[in-house]
Amino acid sequence: MFDREGRNIDYIRVSITEKCNLRCIYCMPQNICNKKEDICLQSEDINRILKAASILGIQKVRFTGGEPLVVDNIEKIIFNTSKIINIKDISITTNGVLLGDMVTSLKQCGLNRVNISLDTLKKDKFKAITKYGELSKVEDAINKCLSLNLELKLNTVLIRGINDDEITDLINLTKELPLTIRFIELMPIGEGERFYKNGLITSEEILNTHSELFPTGTLDKGIAKLYKLPNAKGKVGFISPISCKFCNNCNKVRLTSNGIIKPCLHSEKELDLTPHLDNDLALVSALRESIYHKPKEHNLLEQPENTSKKLMYQIGG
Ligand code: SAM
Ligand code: SF4
Repeated sequence: MFDREGRNIDYIRVSITEKCNLRCIYCMPQNICNKKEDICLQSEDINRILKAASILGIQKVRFTGGEPLVVDNIEKIIFNTSKIINIKDISITTNGVLLGDMVTSLKQCGLNRVNISLDTLKKDKFKAITKYGELSKVEDAINKCLSLNLELKLNTVLIRGINDDEITDLINLTKELPLTIRFIELMPIGEGERFYKNGLITSEEILNTHSELFPTGTLDKGIAKLYKLPNAKGKVGFISPISCKFCNNCNKVRLTSNGIIKPCLHSEKELDLTPHLDNDLALVSALRESIYHKPKEHNLLEQPENTSKKLMYQIGG
């Protein structure tokens, strides 16, 4: 359906848990305990909400978290989603650590595409950034996705002084591998705020400092432009929510694991769907209302405090 700004909203990102098996320094507070009860929607609730959303024109669903692959019944959730008539595309965003062992069965359940978050190619740095992660497991998952011909994107958040020395190495992955690597600007949310204060690495800065790789490189305002190195199998992209915000083209809404619809990542505007879970008509109507009133844009550059009350691992990125 169209929101009041005339944008066609056809995409929902569904966070299915706040729990995670990693503690990335810019995302999740180090002392959060995974044993804490996760008050989250059941797979049946997610299915009911997605059916309602599909009636309103949602066609693409991305499961995220926290870490979506720590959820026991992720396969069932994906399978049930694949049976909803209007849903045409199902993807996940994952840290990749558990993916290698699961991806074959996830694909059989209906998974179409995968985004893996990968901020470094160095084993020790990977551990330092993620606290509990093993890089070899993510590498294994990348290889499995490619061998299954799943469309694969790697998402890298660049942090000044931490992984900005690896831009060339990350881009060079695309020479041999048929995947897209996308550099995502760090957002001043939660744990990300203290790194943001050291200076944002904008997409424009990457293009300027690596001009030998992007001879024709200028960023199209508002569009996640894709580049290709000569003869490369993969592509390079930039997601610039801060320096080059793409609110005009935003086609998505978010659902948190406890049943809250967030029409904009950076806004405090939210709607609790849980009172409507036993009434499909009320669910469609609440969703319609929330989508229609999606905020026009965020103001993170002018006012870097995120007015959303939720953090990235709660919203799903
Ligand atoms: N655990 C999964 C993962 O890491 O891919 C999914 C959830 S995670 C919150 C989704 C994405 O948000 C990841 O790519 C992560 O790097 C990104 N992210 C987390 N905090 C961020 C921040 N402050 N700014 C920009 N991206 C952030
Ligand atoms: Fe977990 Fe993803 Fe956040 Fe890292 S970025 S702590 S993997 S939710």
